[in-house]
Amino acid sequence: MMVYDLLCSHGHRFEEWFSSSADYEAKAAAGHLACPECGDSEVTKALMAPKLNSGAAAPAPACGAPACASGMCQFGDLD
Ligand SMILES: [Zn+2]
Repeated sequence: MMVYDLLCSHGHRFEEWFSSSADYEAKAAAGHLACPECGDSEVTKALMAPKLNSGAAAPAPACGAPACASGMCQFGDLD
């Protein structure tokens, strides 16, 4: 099973599960996909936003170390 983010022509975003990408293609081609909010069957696959790390400028609230949560992280307080 796989989940797709889908987008209706009115901009509603929702998720649907499919057994395969071919399953999605078949249902989309047959018009069996409908927006749960407005019933629109003009549904397209939404682009998954890739979680890109934009580099050094990206805000880093925590370094991931357990000590961060307790304020003891050496990367969290450089003063
Ligand atoms: Zn909709």
